[in-house]
Amino acid sequence: MYKNLHYKIILIFVIFTITLMTAICAILVSSAYSFYNKDFLEQMDAAFDPNGSLCPELRYVLGSEGFAERQKEILRAYSGQLGIDSSRNYYILDQNGAFLAGSDSRLGEELEKTENMISAIAGRRGTEKYFWTDYIDYAVPLSSGNAECIIYIKDLQEEAKSFSFMILQITVQALFIGLFVALILSFFLARAITSPVQSLTQGVQKIANGEFEHEIRIYSDDEIGILTNAFNHMKGVLKNTLDEITGERQKFETLFMYLNDAVLAFDNGGRLIHVNKTACMLFSLTFDGEMKNGERLGFSQMLTDLKIDYKSISDKYKETRNCTVQDIVFGEKALDITFAEFRYIEKNEEKRGVMCVIHDITERYELDKSRREFVANVSHELRTPLTGIKGAVETVLEYPTLDVELKEQFLGMAVEECDRMTRIVSDLLTLSRFDNDGMVWKLETFEASAFLDRVYDVMRTEAKNRGHAFEKNYPQNLPMLTGDKEKLQQVLINVLSNAMKYTEEGGEISLEAHEEKNGVAVCVSDNGIGVPAEDIPRLFERFYCVEKARSSDAGGTGLGLAIAKEIIDAHGGEISIESAPGKGTDVRILLPYEPLLKNEEK
Ligand code: ATP
Ligand code: MG
Repeated sequence: MYKNLHYKIILIFVIFTITLMTAICAILVSSAYSFYNKDFLEQMDAAFDPNGSLCPELRYVLGSEGFAERQKEILRAYSGQLGIDSSRNYYILDQNGAFLAGSDSRLGEELEKTENMISAIAGRRGTEKYFWTDYIDYAVPLSSGNAECIIYIKDLQEEAKSFSFMILQITVQALFIGLFVALILSFFLARAITSPVQSLTQGVQKIANGEFEHEIRIYSDDEIGILTNAFNHMKGVLKNTLDEITGERQKFETLFMYLNDAVLAFDNGGRLIHVNKTACMLFSLTFDGEMKNGERLGFSQMLTDLKIDYKSISDKYKETRNCTVQDIVFGEKALDITFAEFRYIEKNEEKRGVMCVIHDITERYELDKSRREFVANVSHELRTPLTGIKGAVETVLEYPTLDVELKEQFLGMAVEECDRMTRIVSDLLTLSRFDNDGMVWKLETFEASAFLDRVYDVMRTEAKNRGHAFEKNYPQNLPMLTGDKEKLQQVLINVLSNAMKYTEEGGEISLEAHEEKNGVAVCVSDNGIGVPAEDIPRLFERFYCVEKARSSDAGGTGLGLAIAKEIIDAHGGEISIESAPGKGTDVRILLPYEPLLKNEEK
């Protein structure tokens, strides 16, 4: 309660009033006493003036028989001048201060030796007023011949005391009235002072609680009014600044949360304190707007999960406060990870943590990998026929006397390998044209049934050579198709030749077709060796062979289906394979009525 400014002001007023009244009372009482004392001394000095009449008269009777009684009579005659009353008495003492006579014998008998009386015994007038005494006295030594006495006047200051008591009573009354007035005045004054301060305080509290819409009322244009105005202005500036900061923070939070890179922040104890959506997905943390089970992933656990050796990064990190490790394989992903120091404030203390930014480089990594594999495959596929050619030609050169028939056989082998090489190079060129968008398409509209008949005729000889039963099964009135007929034929020939190549001698191959909503579906089926399920999705990759040995035995390089897919995709069609090892393979190709291609020469 006393901390409240309102009560403090009232208390100050009360204390001030009491102090003021007490001081006034003290001054009045003290003045009354000094006036009274001064008056007493002046009166005594005048009465006992050596040139006056009293002293000679008293001295005259001194030494005579019963002088004390006579002196008493003289003093009674002068009692008016001496101001003698019930409180002030005169006494005639001998030279040692013993009572002889006086205006009040009872008090005279009980007189004690005062400082002034002692001065008179010593022969000097005693006229001092000592502040610790509650009376005032005056002692005059008299002598005549050998006779000596002391005239001693003592005033018990009853008048001054009752006057002081009266002053005290008046002061107390005045104090109560003063206190009452002071209370009322201070109440209103306190209210006048504290209302704006209270309003300012409440306003500032509201602002501190984030209620920026609250406008603090200005009561006056004094210092508090200026302060309130300054607060209102400061609140506006603060609100703008906070809005800006909040906006920026939200921007960064959204950016952080939906960044494609995974971001994790660890405190100085290695505890995960921030994480974004990508990181949650990467480390299988539950994410529901915010991280749920992050406590399980500490900094060292993350390093263990990523198989990163702490020592391998710590030296570089200590030196530069950041470091990057590349090509970390984590599950099916390849990652580049950057560790960087960041500062944060916790419990008013600046601390340092580690921020990990994890960049998913799987695509680039896979691309690099497939490029490397591709170069290795191309080199391998080109070197195989070259070795064959070199071997055949060297044999012919080494043995010039060789049989003509054998020579022809070797040279024939060389020519075959040359053809194989030419085919590989031509396939690679075709794929490179696809990659560089440099394929030249010749679109035409043709009869689907006639087109399939042509393909069937081309492949019939090969089927016969391999001892396969080769059947066709499609109506002769299939709709017209539009597309690059030659390239579509290349696709079907490759698929049919696959069926024939990868089917044991005496197999059953069929070429079927039927009309569908979007185009003509062509199906090539065999009852050959089939493809294991895990290899099916990879059959359209370049150089992919289910078993290297069986493909090269069959003279395959693994480019045929890759080219087929590029051609069908370019037409906006579909190609899919269903197969089971030992049972056979079905390849389904949808040739669309309206191809995506445009008939333009490049
Ligand atoms: P290329 O066609 O370039 O001469 P290839 O026939 O080996 O060589 P693709 O046509 O791309 O290459 O076929 C890829 C792989 O798919 C083959 O190597 C083979 O292992 C497998 N394959 C394709 N068709 C069949 C099929 N009908 N039966 C069994 N395996 C097949
Ligand atoms: Mg093939």
